[in-house]
Amino acid sequence: MAGKVYLIGAGPGAADLITVRGMRLLQQADVVLFDALVQPEMFDYCQRAELIDVGKRCNLASTQQRFINKMLVDAAQKHAVVVRLKGGDPMLFGRAQEELAALDEAGVEYEVVPGVTAALAASADAGVSLTSRGLARNVLFATARVGYGEDPNDWVKPVVAADTVVLYMGVKQAAEVAAALLAAGMPANTPLLIVENASLPSSREWPLTLAELPKAADWHLAGPAILLIGEVYRAKLALAEPLATAHRKCSA
Ligand code: SAH
Repeated sequence: MAGKVYLIGAGPGAADLITVRGMRLLQQADVVLFDALVQPEMFDYCQRAELIDVGKRCNLASTQQRFINKMLVDAAQKHAVVVRLKGGDPMLFGRAQEELAALDEAGVEYEVVPGVTAALAASADAGVSLTSRGLARNVLFATARVGYGEDPNDWVKPVVAADTVVLYMGVKQAAEVAAALLAAGMPANTPLLIVENASLPSSREWPLTLAELPKAADWHLAGPAILLIGEVYRAKLALAEPLATAHRKCSA
């Protein structure tokens, strides 16, 4: 039996931010392999599927990417509708290319269903446009995480040059990120915004400057958090409460 694999973007968290197409496919799915950032409410759509957790979070136990690739291929031999459910959009920082390559190699048919990426949900929550006439004409989606063997500073140059930057997976490494950007000449008073749990009722935001960023490394945020950088966030700085208060709130 030759099944089809659907790589579906679950969106940033809120269950009603998946696309209608994605939701319909979940309803038809025989098996769903899902990531750590997928919220359990999403499973209400899975009426008949076997649910398999292949979640990966930085330092926690994770399923090896190679093993996930194999599971997808194997599932397609047994089931008609196989869903690979990924947080946000599958084509951004989701290792989708490796999964698609494995499916190609095995001759398995697939389709990708896009999702709302965290950058867009964080912007919606913050109420700040990623672009702004005269202030920001371009947006960079970037990450400071590099793989083995890659130059650890490859990400810095384009980040310093862009008008607005959305840095994925950067908050835990806030101190290193700040040091690298300051060393590359980004002004210390550059406005930043950290958004945690975008799209969820627990969503929180902290405006801060680049000089203050190293403090964020000690916050130990429980949810996923994203770092937004650029002049468009300057107005938020005026509203910011002192960081000490923000920190207390966040460890509560
Ligand atoms: N494919 C996903 C990104 C996966 S990388 C997407 O398109 O959104 C995981 C990173 O995404 C996290 O470390 C965090 O930086 C960001 N992220 C995902 N969900 C988030 C959320 N609800 N709020 C804030 N950041 C989020």
